[in-house]
Amino acid sequence: MIACHAGPISAVPTPASRTRARSSQGGLAGDQVAGLTGATYRNRDTGVLQALALRHLFLFIGADPNAEWARECVATDERGFVLTGTTALPLQTNRPGVFAIGDVRAGSTKRVAAAVGEGAAVVSQIHQHLAALAADP
Ligand SMILES: Cc1cc2nc3c(=O)[nH]c(=O)nc-3n(C[C@H](O)[C@H](O)[C@H](O)COP(=O)(O)OP(=O)(O)OC[C@H]3O[C@@H](n4cnc5c(N)ncnc54)[C@H](O)[C@@H]3O)c2cc1C
Repeated sequence: MIACHAGPISAVPTPASRTRARSSQGGLAGDQVAGLTGATYRNRDTGVLQALALRHLFLFIGADPNAEWARECVATDERGFVLTGTTALPLQTNRPGVFAIGDVRAGSTKRVAAAVGEGAAVVSQIHQHLAALAADP
């Protein structure tokens, strides 16, 4: 998604903003004196390249999980994020001993601090899993 602000940022909270969904950025126009003056964007459905005068640009890039390789091993949701939480250990996948943390995990918060926190939390869950294995090999 590309969201463009045609007016100065001081116009917030009622900016003249326009959103261009399903678009990829084509190029930016401007210089060091004038700053940003315009952009071109391409509609991904039609392929048409269009120009837009603007002063500010917000890009929301999004993210897709790179977990195709894991789909044969663990359950994923319809978007390819790894499912967890079907066992007593919340970060464990449907395959015992395989855990998922961070952005690749379905339902995760998709923030750095959350990913780091899950990395810390998973350690004790791995210990619990190993302890259970040791008790009942
Ligand atoms: C554009 C953008 C802006 C963001 N802005 C913010 C923000 O302002 N604040 C915030 O808190 N969060 C932000 N996030 C989210 C934040 O980046 C993530 O939540 C965080 O990086 C998740 O950490 P992670 O370790 O789970 O995944 P990642 O940081 O994505 O790390 C995964 C790593 O695994 C590697 N990898 C992937 N596949 C394989 C493979 N098959 N083999 C080996 N290595 C592999 C990748 O190269 C990468 O290094 C932003 C994300 C994006 C995309």
